[in-house]
Amino acid sequence: MRSKQQYIEGLRKMRRNIYLNGEKIARDDEVQMPTINTMGLTLDYAADPKHEGLCTATSHLTGEKINRFCHIHQGKEDLHRKQDMTRLLCQVAGGCIQRCMGIDATNAIYNVSYEADKQNKGATQYHQNFVKWLERFQKEDLVGCCAQTDVKGDRMKRPSEQKDPDLYVRVVERKSDGIVVRGSKLHISEASVADEILVVPTRALLPEEKDWALAFAVPADWEGVKQVVSVHNLRDRQHFKRGFTPGYTDSYVIFDNCFIPWERVFLCGETIYGGACALLFALFHRHSYSGCKPALGDLMLGAVALAAEYNGITKAPHVRDKLAEIIRVSELGYAAGFTASELGKPELYVPGVGFIPFGPGSYIPHSIYANVGRCLTGEAVYREAEILCDIAGGIPATFPYEEDFVNPETKDLLYKYITRNPSIHPEDAAQLWRYIGDILCSASGGIHLMGSYHGGGSPVMEAIAITTQYDIEARKKMVKKLAGIQDRKPNP
Ligand SMILES: Cc1cc2nc3c(=O)[nH]c(=O)nc-3n(C[C@H](O)[C@H](O)[C@H](O)COP(=O)(O)OP(=O)(O)OC[C@H]3O[C@@H](n4cnc5c(N)ncnc54)[C@H](O)[C@@H]3O)c2cc1C
Repeated sequence: MRSKQQYIEGLRKMRRNIYLNGEKIARDDEVQMPTINTMGLTLDYAADPKHEGLCTATSHLTGEKINRFCHIHQGKEDLHRKQDMTRLLCQVAGGCIQRCMGIDATNAIYNVSYEADKQNKGATQYHQNFVKWLERFQKEDLVGCCAQTDVKGDRMKRPSEQKDPDLYVRVVERKSDGIVVRGSKLHISEASVADEILVVPTRALLPEEKDWALAFAVPADWEGVKQVVSVHNLRDRQHFKRGFTPGYTDSYVIFDNCFIPWERVFLCGETIYGGACALLFALFHRHSYSGCKPALGDLMLGAVALAAEYNGITKAPHVRDKLAEIIRVSELGYAAGFTASELGKPELYVPGVGFIPFGPGSYIPHSIYANVGRCLTGEAVYREAEILCDIAGGIPATFPYEEDFVNPETKDLLYKYITRNPSIHPEDAAQLWRYIGDILCSASGGIHLMGSYHGGGSPVMEAIAITTQYDIEARKKMVKKLAGIQDRKPNP
């Protein structure tokens, strides 16, 4: 396993292909450091013996100890631990821990490449290629990100119907030694600090949409890859630092006639498996949300409870109701993820068919529970922000700048006038209002909310997954029986 320092040294050696606001930047540019520090927590915690077994796992390929973020789930216990590790690390980071896209994409491709080879009866070596790639990924403790979301152009048109076929990433040339791909994936979190980019399709594909049925991995600085990045850092503080300052980045990852050697291609042309790969990444990722969303709920709950205390309104009845609401959603989201882990098996749910064995035996969380949990907690993020806004009052929005709390002409006056609950030291109160301002009033806070809402798919995507996989007909039958409705032939 790597240390954080080794990870940073690796980033330093990478080719410059990150564009930020008109300039090319180095990966260890100061502006990326809060994001690198956040990612670094995944390495620090794996190295800490206190978190052994939670943040580490045993590779099923080599038997060596590896970072859990590089692991393929070998049983229910692994699914439970991924959920719990995610909750813990998001609590520590104060938001997204960023490395889950890599573990979710590797688990999806591991299964799908196996099934595609099986269907091709030995004509392809996708799974063998992937396992070889995975061995190095685990051994070198690489950071992976997942590029799933295509730019998609006209939302009402399929990939093959778009005026510009590059609006979904596709193969433009097949060669003896590899393929050439073109297109762009957008919103790709932490691609600018990742070692490897894993690419999977966005959606189900028609048989004629072979060129879009693609999965591969490339180093994030690969020739032909450009990243245009947006960086979401909090306002820098000079005097009153936070306990931990997280950062996030998202890239437009552009494949500009990019050559991918066959050993890095894990799917190319098998449309059924392209759709399965899209579905499976989304499923693993929604399961990850059952760890991160409860952590965000924990942090919201803590912030609301402190805001109530610092405002002196802890005993007000509406505060209790709102605290209960946050706990309800967070723990139901966690419970849904727990159930998805507990009912996990090496099987995939296929609408109209039911569960079928899928992949070489690694564990897949139960789809209904992963989806209902993600849907419940994802849709709650703006409601929870509303609760925090309500209980905090307006103070975080108009809070004076740091220097005014240092300037002798204003310092004492400000501390006098921000005092509410006399038992709270005004410097502590100031830190809380700054922290809540970071969540509710900063650009970074706004982006975090949008990511929490749309990441893993907009809520309608979960609604589609839930309703296509749930046995609604069985429920209709129950009601017909109770109501005394006869089973008749449809009335012509
Ligand atoms: C901060 C952030 C981080 C992210 N990180 C990643 C990442 O690391 N990797 C990754 O792959 N993706 C990532 N995403 C992408 C995320 O998964 C998408 O935002 C999400 O799937 C929605 O896609 P979209 O943004 O293209 O929105 P759109 O698809 O444009 O959705 C806008 C609206 O249109 C509706 N809509 C879209 N298509 C149709 C249709 N055919 N019929 C009817 N309604 C439709 C949607 O339901 C929604 O209401 C991230 C997103 C954000 C905001």
